[in-house]
Amino acid sequence: MKYVDVILPLPLPNTFTYSVPEEWADSVRIGMRVVVPFGKKKMYTAVVYLVHTVMPTVYEAKDIVCLLDNAPILRRPQMKFWEWISSYYQAFLGDVYQAAVPAGLKLESETRVCINPDYEAETVLSEKEEKVLMALSDGKPTTVLELNKVTEMRDVMPTLKALLDKGAVEISEELTDKFRVKTDTFVRMSAEAMQEDNLRKIFDDLGRAKKQLDVLMMYIDLSKCLIPAKYREVSRKELMEKSGASAAVLAGLVERGVLETYLKEIGRLDISDVSTSAVYPLNEFQQVAIKEIEKQFIEKPVVLLHGVTSSGKTEIYIHLINKVLAEGKQVLYLVPEIALTTQLTTRLKRVFGKRLGVYHSKFSDAERVEIWNNVLNDKTYDVIIGVRSSIFLPFRQLGLIIVDEEHESSYKQYDPAPRYHARNAAIVLASMHAAKTLLGTATPAIETYQNAQTGKFGLVELSQRHEDMAMPEILVVDTKEAYRKKQMESHFTDTLLERIAKALQNKEQVILFQNRRGYAPYIECKACAYVPHCKNCDVSLTVHKAFNTLTCHYCGYTEPIPNICPACKMPGTLSTKGFGTEKIEDEIKQIFPDARVSRMDLDTTRSKKSYEKIISDFEQHKVDILIGTQMVSKGLDFERVSLVGILNADNMLNFPDFRAHERAFQLMAQVSGRAGRKNKRGTVILQTSSPEHPIIGQVIRNDYQAMFATQCDERKLFKYPPYFRIIQIVLRHRDSIILNQAAARMAVDLRAVFNNRVLGPNVPAVSRIQNMYIKHILLKFEVEASAEKAKDILRQVTTNLQSEPKFKSLWINLDVDPM
Ligand code: ADP
Ligand code: ZN
Repeated sequence: MKYVDVILPLPLPNTFTYSVPEEWADSVRIGMRVVVPFGKKKMYTAVVYLVHTVMPTVYEAKDIVCLLDNAPILRRPQMKFWEWISSYYQAFLGDVYQAAVPAGLKLESETRVCINPDYEAETVLSEKEEKVLMALSDGKPTTVLELNKVTEMRDVMPTLKALLDKGAVEISEELTDKFRVKTDTFVRMSAEAMQEDNLRKIFDDLGRAKKQLDVLMMYIDLSKCLIPAKYREVSRKELMEKSGASAAVLAGLVERGVLETYLKEIGRLDISDVSTSAVYPLNEFQQVAIKEIEKQFIEKPVVLLHGVTSSGKTEIYIHLINKVLAEGKQVLYLVPEIALTTQLTTRLKRVFGKRLGVYHSKFSDAERVEIWNNVLNDKTYDVIIGVRSSIFLPFRQLGLIIVDEEHESSYKQYDPAPRYHARNAAIVLASMHAAKTLLGTATPAIETYQNAQTGKFGLVELSQRHEDMAMPEILVVDTKEAYRKKQMESHFTDTLLERIAKALQNKEQVILFQNRRGYAPYIECKACAYVPHCKNCDVSLTVHKAFNTLTCHYCGYTEPIPNICPACKMPGTLSTKGFGTEKIEDEIKQIFPDARVSRMDLDTTRSKKSYEKIISDFEQHKVDILIGTQMVSKGLDFERVSLVGILNADNMLNFPDFRAHERAFQLMAQVSGRAGRKNKRGTVILQTSSPEHPIIGQVIRNDYQAMFATQCDERKLFKYPPYFRIIQIVLRHRDSIILNQAAARMAVDLRAVFNNRVLGPNVPAVSRIQNMYIKHILLKFEVEASAEKAKDILRQVTTNLQSEPKFKSLWINLDVDPM
């Protein structure tokens, strides 16, 4: 008898053994998907982890329900990679599976599917497939479990899989702008009508059917079908839109045999056929840098490219990618932020054309499945640009991973598990492929630079901006003094406003940076000092004026802004405190009513298209002033920005975190890097109430080395990375008393082993989220110590604690290398 050990898409510590019925015994392989029953009559799509013949002794193995694949959907290195992630970040393999594989590939009982409204049957469907489609015909999303019942089939999953493959059904998702269309209807002239004599006759006949004639003319114009060299296909939709004709008019032409319609599969991801063009030649400094990178790659698997903003790091990446592709290998280009994929995609498409695949979370699941399969089956994509989850794609043979803006903290996944750091995981992934990793940034993470200093990573410095563009001039304006001298209008110093006015006059663009979204962090009653708080979390509610709401940034809880203070009932006493991007936008529009203003933050970029629009509007100078959170700092490249305003450096500097100063430096240096044009030096106005702060000085001088040195001293002194490793233990419970007991016990148990390497339990800044109370314990240990051993002990302590009945519903998360 054959058995398989499978990974279920559930947070469970083990793999599970199932028996394989005769019909699949020969074909089952590691990395294939099987449908298995688990728990109370539930079905899941599991991944085969091991194939063997050892009968389990503790429980009786159930049969797998079916085998879904003819070939594995995972490659061998990937399975190894999953194991590494699971062990290093202390996550279950099931968690890794959940994070790694798009939903469309792992149907489970609760997965909701619906019919694809654009599907038009071309092939003959099986009886079972027809049955499932019938059950879905009302268009409502239905769970797999419900489908099982309605169709009275033993298991509908294999049938659903077949229908998914045919594009007849899709995984139902609540996405605002997903592309549904996979096939589209196109229009063409019938072969008969194309004959010259016939065409003339048709025109004569249509003399009386004016509307049909108009549509036909429009079609000829759009398609250039009479000029074969210029012919292009025209979709039915485009024709109807451009001609303004009704479906009936078009149908009339089809009936006459003039036009005919046909279905065509259009890739969801293929935005357009871009013609590729040659790469730019590298300038002399870039040439030196690329040679140095290649030289260091001979000995070192990882190289850090430390290049100032606008030094042309991206151009160097492009040249390196070209070389790796020439060797027949694949490249992964990681970026920290979707906003960056939009701009870079255009740039890379120009060079790599159809070979470039884009992968990120704003894509619909169907699109992600499409990329997955494309990479798996050696299809067209051999360069993938994507955010952190793209490290899980089934690469065949990676030659190079580029981690752009490697210092960005958004590379770290926080919730749910696995809490992995994509930069660090990428380095491991690359080594499994015997590939190289290039880390690039103008402001390296302290840990990375330290690794480059000790020689673990190679290091290449590039300090020349392309075309000798000067580094921006940074002017610090003391807001304390400006307040005193009444040189301030709301949150803007006179200096900043003057500069904005001048830039607008010169038809130049401005970026204003405020690291806080929403209108204001909170409102307060001037009479009784009441501050509205979230019902579920221990935080004040953020004001969002556009929706007239108070919203919790942790759980999303929202209520209308009250008119009078709910506590003291005094009218007109509520006032907003602090400021976010929304308020800045409001005020700037009042001060500069003629300027075109746009805002980029989490609230204005919920959908994929909104990102693209904000960025392309700014690129095309349809917008004069762009206001944004840290999103605007991340490696975006705009040509006409002459002024950057940093509205408030204080809240970055005072953030209670050991990385606050490093981050403040990185953010300010990066956002400053957006200023400057080819022939004109850019200006940065930095508003702060503590101009004497050392970080401010380091930003002005663009002195990364000084920042690195002081931070290292502090980290050594206070036992933080890169000298110590940190594991954060997060305990959560609905009952604060039980939580306190558990946290205290855990700290005692850990101290017994780790002594003073244990800190806490502490109450975090936000001590309750979604009605769960939270406590933190921090474990710090020397980098030289065995992390494996520490983690083993930690697991043991955790398991012991959770096995006590009293602590049954206690949640414990481990966050390895927290950010
Ligand atoms: P970085 O990634 O280091 O911030 P970029 O690669 O975005 O810098 O380069 C900044 C600008 O300079 C871009 O507009 C880019 O097209 C241009 N540029 C850089 N290097 C070259 C080159 N060798 N030839 C032409 N343009 C270049
Ligand atoms: Zn909340």
